Amino acid sequence: MVEVLYAQPGSEPLIDFLKDVIIMTLSGGGNLNKSRVTVIGGGLAGIEAACMARSLGLAVTLYEMKPLRYSEAHTMEGLGELVCSNSLKALGGDTAHGALKGEMVELGSIIMETALKTRVPAGAALAVDREAFSCLVTEALEAKGVEIIREEIEHIPSARPLIIATGPLTSEPFAASIQSLLGKDSLFFYDAVSPVVTFESIDMGKAFFGSRYGKGGADYINCALDKEGYERFVHELTSAKRVTPRAFEPTALFEGCMPIESMAERGVATLAFGPLRPVGFSEQVKNGPPYAIVQLRKENAGGTLYNMVGFQTRLTFPEQARVFGLIPGLENAEFVRYGKLHRNTYINASEVLESTLELRAEQGLFFAGQLTGLEGYCESGASGIIAGINAVRRCLGRAPVTPPADTMTGALLRYISAPRETTPQPMNANFGLLPGITGIKKRRDRRRAQARLAVERMRSWRDKILASKG
Ligand SMILES: Cc1cc2nc3c(=O)[nH]c(=O)nc-3n(C[C@H](O)[C@H](O)[C@H](O)COP(=O)(O)OP(=O)(O)OC[C@H]3O[C@@H](n4cnc5c(N)ncnc54)[C@H](O)[C@@H]3O)c2cc1C
Repeated sequence: MVEVLYAQPGSEPLIDFLKDVIIMTLSGGGNLNKSRVTVIGGGLAGIEAACMARSLGLAVTLYEMKPLRYSEAHTMEGLGELVCSNSLKALGGDTAHGALKGEMVELGSIIMETALKTRVPAGAALAVDREAFSCLVTEALEAKGVEIIREEIEHIPSARPLIIATGPLTSEPFAASIQSLLGKDSLFFYDAVSPVVTFESIDMGKAFFGSRYGKGGADYINCALDKEGYERFVHELTSAKRVTPRAFEPTALFEGCMPIESMAERGVATLAFGPLRPVGFSEQVKNGPPYAIVQLRKENAGGTLYNMVGFQTRLTFPEQARVFGLIPGLENAEFVRYGKLHRNTYINASEVLESTLELRAEQGLFFAGQLTGLEGYCESGASGIIAGINAVRRCLGRAPVTPPADTMTGALLRYISAPRETTPQPMNANFGLLPGITGIKKRRDRRRAQARLAVERMRSWRDKILASKG
């Protein structure tokens, strides 16, 4: 029995509550019925945004290009299509995805409501019958009175508030339109993602802080390998199982995105002369000069997450845990994000987006979903809910808001929009994004407390934001 963090949707008439609150706050002159929110993209983020704005009483128009045009991965006519796995990941009250799901239920998520109705057995995960899920979601939006227009949008329309949620496979003409609005360096078309591990799971008895030649102080964590350990690592790396690229994903990559295993195949010493070069560290390593050094760079300002520099990879997830676990200091590393290389359209949120999902340069224009640099079905959905709430707030003449930093949704939105020096890489829900909790020794108990707190904080935020005058 998986311990979850929410009551079954339907046990609390949440949407009615929200609607009452909004109507109440509008009484005395509001003009809600004349307001309309426009959403582009009927995927996981778009359905949540449309549903939320509609549930709060606004007219909503949702544009979806299917079935007139399908991306390389979409095949179903319905909205809310799960393009790959039918799993929405973990449900458990001691998991990051469990916390996110609990928060989504608190916010009246259509994804959660429908997923629990179309659930198929999947152990501790929430998996669904994807056909039934998409059918029910589409019917629910129609029943709510969302106007659904099947049309490919090629240029950013002038309607405001507007929520753009066209996802990782945004059609090319529309991607070009987004790029011309944001600038050419503000839209990425491809992911070369390195794994991220939690700081607390790195064995600092073996790893050490420092930068090459002492430049940059303690910016990096370094893991030293001797010759024997390095050669074993390279052998396992080059023989490990890989993910096969999909037909629409390029097999040849430019040098900066080269998977680490492909680089290692060029010769056993290649990595030791490349990203794992051991120069600049001899004085800091206890057992003599290292043969190779793996570096990890801070992934967030709090220093709770570290990114394995240059480790973009196509190894399968279990193989990443096994092979990268051979690196001294990373034997028990907790991977909160695995390495990946895939086609993915996303904006440079850190440059252009507020944590409210509104464009810094233009009030009333919001982005949601994977296009913002989030990764995953539920993460995209949660961002859609917030974009929906904020589009409505703009209609009401109120400033957009972000959930608190100790909710998973709030932490994710802060992460993607925070200033950064390196190229942003997509992020999924994980505990490293949340502020730590002190005084609880066992990791599982700590996770459970963090998750519970996240859901409670989301509940009180929802009540405050939707009921307040602010
Ligand atoms: C191949 C692939 C496999 C994936 N596998 C997983 C997985 O197993 N698990 C997971 O959690 N995540 C997975 N993801 C990530 C997944 O896509 C996102 O988690 C999620 O679907 C993103 O939601 P979204 O609403 O941002 O985009 P989407 O769900 O893709 O929705 C975008 C919608 O916009 C529509 N659209 C695009 N352009 C236009 C336009 N110009 N005009 C009108 N409509 C348009 C599309 O048809 C689509 O319906 C995968 C992504 C890809 C590309």
